[in-house]
Amino acid sequence: MPVDRELPTPEAEHLLRLTREIADAELAPNAASYEREERFPREVFRLLGEAGLMGLPFGEDVGGGGQPYEVYLQVVEELAARWASVALGVSVHTLSCFPIDRFGTDAQRRDLLPDMVGGHLLGAYCLSEAHAGSDAAALRASARADGDGWTASGEKAWVTHGGQADFYSTFLRTPDDGEKGISCFHLTPDLAGFGAAPPEQKMGLTGSTTAAIRLDDVPVPADRLVGERGRGMGIALAALDSGRLGVSAVAVGLAQSALDLAVGYAVEREAFGRPIAQHQGVSFLLADMAAAVESARATYLVAARRKDAGKPYSRQASIAKLVATDAAMKVTTDAVQVLGGAGYTRDHPAERYMREAKVMQIFEGTNQIQRMVIGRHLTNAVVPPAG
Ligand SMILES: Cc1cc2nc3c(=O)[nH]c(=O)nc-3n(C[C@H](O)[C@H](O)[C@H](O)COP(=O)(O)OP(=O)(O)OC[C@H]3O[C@@H](n4cnc5c(N)ncnc54)[C@H](O)[C@@H]3O)c2cc1C
Repeated sequence: MPVDRELPTPEAEHLLRLTREIADAELAPNAASYEREERFPREVFRLLGEAGLMGLPFGEDVGGGGQPYEVYLQVVEELAARWASVALGVSVHTLSCFPIDRFGTDAQRRDLLPDMVGGHLLGAYCLSEAHAGSDAAALRASARADGDGWTASGEKAWVTHGGQADFYSTFLRTPDDGEKGISCFHLTPDLAGFGAAPPEQKMGLTGSTTAAIRLDDVPVPADRLVGERGRGMGIALAALDSGRLGVSAVAVGLAQSALDLAVGYAVEREAFGRPIAQHQGVSFLLADMAAAVESARATYLVAARRKDAGKPYSRQASIAKLVATDAAMKVTTDAVQVLGGAGYTRDHPAERYMREAKVMQIFEGTNQIQRMVIGRHLTNAVVPPAG
């Protein structure tokens, strides 16, 4: 069932219509087979770039769509309803463009951003390492000052689009900047010593490649530093606030699909002489699923509207990520239940949705970490942190 949306402008309504048309024609028919074959749909990102959907929240001066986050996120949600891996890819690409857009020099913004936000190039965001996921500030891969530039070495783990991307927004320890010194770099695969490991074998989102990136004494030119040296962790966290909204939208789109599938099945499937939807046990389950989807959507929209209004939104972004991804896990699990035995087979996408939902509670900060962020906001508002 099409989602009834409150959009701010006729332009946004047109954009959502265009997104649905493209997603119905190009994403929905291919999702199941690509996921089954673990194929990365690079050409789909090119197509979305040509349609102007890869840089929606960035300024028109750098080739972006100039759209508010509330509109961009609803586009992501519509994509996710047809193919979660692709919607996640759009969200990660947006996250990867954020450091240069927000912290880059005029020259970086002018020379690099148009091809990035135009979708000619695909981005990746490299913060995590094998031993440093939740505790990202414990990262060890480093960049040492070397002549005019830097030499980067170490390994970044779990990189969405690893080995597929054209640029990597990468966070590396810069030891000369003190114990906490971390800096952000714009790395590209053409640099000598840059390599990708074979993709991870995942439970779900198998159309989205995830791989470690190896940096083997990579010479990095000075103009690849993004933002101030030593201040990279602030850039990483600011990017993650907006990225968590992207993940929220992906989770809501996925949950909406699971709900639609379950409703469609429940009105057709009969047991005890009537459609199962007419048994209260099933209709209450469907009602709870709908309530979870709609409240998760409302929660991410509240956070997005705060961001669009220039207000702080970090706490609301963590709440949105927590609420939306927990909702997606519950709704996709209940969709399998509504379909009964059929839900447990690969004849229907319910089991895939359930596998895809699980990782959303893990990446871009696990939901335990979101609770820590929310808790800190609450208590710091009452008791300011020491020091
Ligand atoms: C498919 C996929 C794609 C990803 N894509 C990217 C990407 O593009 N870029 C990137 O940088 N990273 C990416 N990641 C990494 C992801 O962000 C991390 O997996 C995540 O942050 C968790 O880190 P970890 O796996 O090391 O788990 P750990 O940090 O080892 O956590 C293990 C468990 O302990 C819990 N835990 C840890 N610390 C605490 C605490 N203080 N309090 C309570 N519980 C705690 C966690 O919640 C979790 O349940 C991706 C991961 C996956 C699976």
